[in-house]
Amino acid sequence: MKKDLSLSLSERDKKHLWHPLTQHKLSPEMLAIVKAKGAVLYDEAGKEYIDGISSWYTAMYGHCNETITSKVAAQMTQLDQVVFSGFTHRPAIELSEALINILPSNQEKLFFSDNGSTATEIGIKMALQYHHNLRNDRKVMMAFEEGFHGDTFGAMSVSGLSVYNGAFEEHFIEVVRLPVPTGDNNEAVLKRLEALIESHRIAGFIYEPLVQGAAAMKMHDPAGLDAILKRCAENDIITVADEVMTGFGKTGKNFASEYLENQPDIICLSKALTAGLLPMAVTSCSQKIYDAFYSEDIAKGLFHGHTYTANPLACTAALAGIELLNSDEMQQHIRRIEKGHEQFRAKLESHPKVKNIRQLGVIFAFELDVEMERYGNLRNQLFQHFMEQGVFLRPLGNTIYILAPYITSEEQMQKIYTSVELALEKF
Ligand SMILES: *Cc1c(COP(=O)(O)O)cnc(C)c1O
Repeated sequence: MKKDLSLSLSERDKKHLWHPLTQHKLSPEMLAIVKAKGAVLYDEAGKEYIDGISSWYTAMYGHCNETITSKVAAQMTQLDQVVFSGFTHRPAIELSEALINILPSNQEKLFFSDNGSTATEIGIKMALQYHHNLRNDRKVMMAFEEGFHGDTFGAMSVSGLSVYNGAFEEHFIEVVRLPVPTGDNNEAVLKRLEALIESHRIAGFIYEPLVQGAAAMKMHDPAGLDAILKRCAENDIITVADEVMTGFGKTGKNFASEYLENQPDIICLSKALTAGLLPMAVTSCSQKIYDAFYSEDIAKGLFHGHTYTANPLACTAALAGIELLNSDEMQQHIRRIEKGHEQFRAKLESHPKVKNIRQLGVIFAFELDVEMERYGNLRNQLFQHFMEQGVFLRPLGNTIYILAPYITSEEQMQKIYTSVELALEKF
């Protein structure tokens, strides 16, 4: 007897499943979610939770959105999967046209893969091979301190938040680091950049534009970032914007890069790209990058490919997601949530336990200023508090952040805000 149906899903889970980013000895319990609709998750006991982080920033138009699921269902009976090497198909072509239409104007070509880590891995490979193909001796990548770009080797190498990567560090590619520009330190950051350009042969610079998600929604100064990008362009350092988290409206604009004057050579997209339905990623690039690979020499091509590249179902979900994003209705939702955040911000601004409130678009974050030592594990206690309130938030250390789906109702947003205010009373 392999499965015991008298056990709950959570109990059956323990037998064979190994979860991501989890030390199972310290965190043995997994909550079984059986249904999701709009902004709400339902567990196996029937309890409801507002998905205050859009299931890791993916389901921005709401879970099981019928506009998207009906299109994917129709595609499913037409063409499910086909090799994308030597073949092409309508969903990929239509998605490419829709994406190029909203991406920064210098972006011309799209390369598909399966997740955010592979999107950045490919961005790094494009930057390194660009110089290789042009016979430039440049092999070093540059990245921000505390950046996060994913869990594959190239992506781990450029990630500054590598406390968990100790077992692999000696296999990393060479990376030099820049502090994020905060406004006050812009001069010092630029000085450091000049020194790095002098001392290293830098091939590319990868960065999360304006908001560093995994670094607890750290935000940085657009003018400072623009100055860095300008110096990179002047030095033929290929710029790779990792918009895996920031893409598709979360910052209030379709892409965070739109807040900047200097556009990146390469952009990495995933997470909300497919609206939370299916895993897929895109690495887009300018004509200049593509041209460096375009040759009669086969070895100058980009020999990277995943089996499920440009899966037609995922492309269909992405295309439907972009249509929703472009709609007036969705844009009004984004403005509504921004406004709600601004009001909540005004309310919290002078609270003695609230530090470093930051907000951009629908992203809202602050630090809880309490003595961490008084709580065994403050982060876990906060998480439990929110779950008891029927709100799914995932605090990072003492940072509480909200990144709810655009379609979250006013009433649901109020419930999230109230759970935060209760946390301020309780902790
Ligand atoms: C989540 C994330 C990644 C990694 O994406 P996965 O799909 O989890 O591999 C890379 N970069 C940023 C900025 C992210 O937020």
